Amino acid sequence: MDRLPEAYGHMDPEEVRSRIQEKKAALGKRLVILGHHYQRQEVIDFADFRGDSLGLSRLAAAQADCEFIVFCGVRFMAESAEILRREHQTVQHPDPLSGCPLADMADIASVRQAWDRVVGDGTAGKVIPITYMNSGSDLKAFCGERDGAVCTSSNAGAAFQWARTKGDKAFFFPDENLGRNTARQVGIPAEEILLWDPGVSPGDPEIEKRVREASLILWKGFCHVHTDFRPEHIRRIREEDPSARVVVHPECSEEVVVEADAVGSTEFICRYVEDAPAGSSVYIGTEINLVSRLAASHPDKKIYEVFRSLCPNMFRIGPPNLLRVLDEIGEANRVFVDADVKHLARIALENMLSFS
Ligand code: SF4
Repeated sequence: MDRLPEAYGHMDPEEVRSRIQEKKAALGKRLVILGHHYQRQEVIDFADFRGDSLGLSRLAAAQADCEFIVFCGVRFMAESAEILRREHQTVQHPDPLSGCPLADMADIASVRQAWDRVVGDGTAGKVIPITYMNSGSDLKAFCGERDGAVCTSSNAGAAFQWARTKGDKAFFFPDENLGRNTARQVGIPAEEILLWDPGVSPGDPEIEKRVREASLILWKGFCHVHTDFRPEHIRRIREEDPSARVVVHPECSEEVVVEADAVGSTEFICRYVEDAPAGSSVYIGTEINLVSRLAASHPDKKIYEVFRSLCPNMFRIGPPNLLRVLDEIGEANRVFVDADVKHLARIALENMLSFS
């Protein structure tokens, strides 16, 4: 694992800033810096594009003049850019240690073991695997190989509907909360949902029967940043500010989502704030860097966090990490995805296009 050389950690912040600007100016259109919504502001200051992981990866691949893509986000995002990049482009990740605990909760060995049990002798019917964008490239490839799909928090509902037209049940990885919130949205009853706990379900003697009875199987994974929000936070907001509106991300628990006025992806949350009337109060249940940026860019509205929740993995990346990859452009912390994995993951991403 290639760590940040010590010299970068001792640099004066102003020097780091001016050197990043010099590098950007020298590389011009050959370089595209992507900044996920949850990155801190001092990194976003240098981003050519800001957005969610899929949107950013597509945008970078669409820049014909771009040779070097630097993805400021967590590892699965940089891998997604690598899967979607053009032939002449390279992708670098400023900190290879910046992973996503949610994505890591569905490791490919446990998923294969679960799949064998769920598919079993075929009596459970045809199972369609769907993985959230927040997953490793090997899991995306696993779904592509089985004619499944990738989905985002914006199109998970469409993915579940699509799976129903293709098979008897869907197996969704790795976020239980997004799965439950989406199931409620598309009308899948709670009794038809089976939670697959990789630590318990393989040893359950009744598991084959439960699988047969289910129409949706959810992997037991969660985002610790979004499960920090609690229903009592929202109730307290309502008591203190009855006119306030609350919007949360679907990685929050179901109890939180039912208390909120609206639920949606990061892009949805941005639009929600945009559309809110001047002077109104909006409380947001998602990562704090996005909330702070929305508050700063909408001074005519009162924008607050439901609760302060920071993603420490996103926070690992700072301007020194960015400068380091710019100093060794096309080389340092380059992201590689095996060609077969890439091919199969692309199938899962292309299948997503059929329903989104
Ligand atoms: S906010 Fe949650 S899902 Fe997003 S990168 Fe952090 S841990 Fe992963």
